[in-house]
Amino acid sequence: MRRESLIVSAGRPEQPGAPLNAPVVLAAPLRHTSEDNPYSRAATTETRGALEDVLGALDGGRALAYASGMAAIAAIAEGRPTGSVAVVPHAAYSGAVSIFAHERDLGRLTLRPVPIADTDAVLAALDGAGLLWLEAMTNPLLEIPDLPVLIEAAHRAGALVCVDATFASPLNVRPLELGADVVMHSVTKYLAGHSDLLMGSLTVGSDELYEQLKYRRMLTGAIPGALECFLALRGIRTLALRMERAQANAAELARRLATHPRVARVRYPGLPDDPGHERASRLFGGYGAMVAIELDGSAEAAEAACDRVRLINHATSLGGVESLIERRARYEVDAGFGTPANLLRLSVGIEHVEDLWADLDQALR
Ligand code: PLP
Repeated sequence: MRRESLIVSAGRPEQPGAPLNAPVVLAAPLRHTSEDNPYSRAATTETRGALEDVLGALDGGRALAYASGMAAIAAIAEGRPTGSVAVVPHAAYSGAVSIFAHERDLGRLTLRPVPIADTDAVLAALDGAGLLWLEAMTNPLLEIPDLPVLIEAAHRAGALVCVDATFASPLNVRPLELGADVVMHSVTKYLAGHSDLLMGSLTVGSDELYEQLKYRRMLTGAIPGALECFLALRGIRTLALRMERAQANAAELARRLATHPRVARVRYPGLPDDPGHERASRLFGGYGAMVAIELDGSAEAAEAACDRVRLINHATSLGGVESLIERRARYEVDAGFGTPANLLRLSVGIEHVEDLWADLDQALR
């Protein structure tokens, strides 16, 4: 089955008389059986199990859901043996950059930060590495690493390879098929799709790694709640439709923004002259719905543009049905790794493209 059909059909109870949707199981303990630990931090409830079935089917592996995207990242970052060398992005999602730095400061990891779109720089850092952390499309600079080349080289060096595919979504990139060991999503974003919950996931190909991660999740307790699981699964059912519309909107806005008098640079891998265009065309099923623009103006001018939007929301995060805009260098971590002060990150939603354009145009002007 194609993924558009899988996301609608997987994770449904199938016995005669069963409800069409997995029920919301609001219970911490389950009654004892011969199962080893019938407690919902350890055992798989119907609600979370249904969601994990869909997440696993989407990425072609076995999925574990976590209480947030950061909890999923922490499961990897904190789960490495003390003293491991981690090759990590120099510029990526601020939470990931920060948690790796924190592990280094606690003396647990040795970090080698690299610009991950620069293949030679990553290859040169891999010797002796135990972990390579990548983002399929980086936050917020929308750069694209050459995943298959880096994954193969990292495996030769003996490193575990994890790819945060949040920006691309599992409809646009399948890192496990490209050889990665783990694909991570902030389910909070495109998968759930309605900006109404926090959740993360890790999907893996190896049963051994799955069991290790599941055991650690049981110990650390980073389990999402049943209501969040239900909402996330409901959101995922429409992922393909939402992505199709958001992506078409983003491509059109990026094309128009490229000639806007207030815009100095547009970053969108779907534009033929974008540095990530060749890799995105080769590796992705679509160019995504994130657009970054650098204004012809100061940080203050960029903040002022954010204050003027009316349909688009001036807020953080991404991947929901509603469009969001934010100046990322407002955060110390993003500014620290070189995000231009006048860069606005736009998460394009599913509104009518002409209304989005009218709003963006008046805000920029
Ligand atoms: N990865 C990326 C690329 C993100 O943008 C985010 C959040 O913005 C996360 C991970 C963390 O996810 P969460 O906010 O669900 O903890």
